[in-house]
Amino acid sequence: VYAEIAENKLRISRHDVVLGRILGEGFFGEVHEGVYTSQSGEKTRVAVKTCKECSAEVKEKFLSEADLMKNLEHPHIVRLIGVTEFDPVWIVMELYEHGELGNYLIEQQYMLTTATLTLYSLQICKALAYLEGLSMVHRDIAVRNVLVASSDCVKLGDFGLSRYVDEQEYYKASVTRLPIKWMAPESINFRRFTTASDVWMFGVCVWEIFSRAQQPFFWLENSQVIDQLESGVRLPKPQQCPPQVYGLLTRCWAYEPHRRPTFAQLVCSLRCVTALLLWT
Ligand code: ADP
Repeated sequence: VYAEIAENKLRISRHDVVLGRILGEGFFGEVHEGVYTSQSGEKTRVAVKTCKECSAEVKEKFLSEADLMKNLEHPHIVRLIGVTEFDPVWIVMELYEHGELGNYLIEQQYMLTTATLTLYSLQICKALAYLEGLSMVHRDIAVRNVLVASSDCVKLGDFGLSRYVDEQEYYKASVTRLPIKWMAPESINFRRFTTASDVWMFGVCVWEIFSRAQQPFFWLENSQVIDQLESGVRLPKPQQCPPQVYGLLTRCWAYEPHRRPTFAQLVCSLRCVTALLLWT
């Protein structure tokens, strides 16, 4: 992975990055704010992921996220700027100063209109339609993995669990730290992850958006979730969620994966709802 990144333009020199305060704790180490100066002298505010105990094996895993992100270019996906050339290895990304959508929804509760929340849902959906076109499954769609660039622009991030899958194939996960309450029944039962299971998770993420970042199924234990889903129970309509949007969510939560809409279809439907809300 490292060799591949080093080959292309994403390789950057540590001297061009000035580290600032800590933004948060990532899975591999601290994430810092910083400033990156490009070859042409242009300065960009960045977020820098560091890797604390970076053995060769850990480094490979740490860099796999950057490796996936390097091929992605979309207005609603976190932008990778580069990876430092020598150890200690840093992953440098564009900074989204409002941070995680989950926290933002709580902090800005009274400022966010139904139209804005629908717009965020549409933007995440567009990012996922783009991944769908690349046969890539994200596997961890949740408001904690969406960053806020500005009050009307969010970016899907955290490709740590993402994988490319063949169209007929699926990724069989071996990870044990799985986000059960966000997961489709086939993911919980058989660890089967496909674009259709991403659609289910997207539905849960939209539910979080309209519930102002409440935890889905907070009233249940992880171990109780699958029985509930199999007996037909689904997340209830959040108070602020327009009925048309909730109608889409219930379709995302069809038990049979092939009955769920595609992201391309969801983009069309959400566009209509967004247009309606913005004009009324
Ligand atoms: P990991 O995926 O390695 O666990 P995260 O992506 O969750 O790490 O990052 C940890 C924290 O750093 C997050 O809570 C988030 O607030 C912050 N962060 C990560 N990337 C960015 C970014 N591009 N812009 C702003 N904040 C970020």
